[in-house]
Amino acid sequence: MKKQYLACKICKRLTTDQFCPVHGDEKTTEEWFGFVIVNDPEGSVIAKRAGITEPGMYAIKVRS
Ligand SMILES: [Zn+2]
Repeated sequence: MKKQYLACKICKRLTTDQFCPVHGDEKTTEEWFGFVIVNDPEGSVIAKRAGITEPGMYAIKVRS
């Protein structure tokens, strides 16, 4: 079963909603590639490099 995830263009957060849960006005997009699951932003090099401060699922690239 595959769920369609959408990514926010600002924070790259992945969601199934049409709008970002953080940036309420920002429409999410299907145009994203790759993703990371961040459980521990403090201890994750990838999260730090991507500027991710909250746990969650994030797209690596979002086409804007
Ligand atoms: Zn956002």
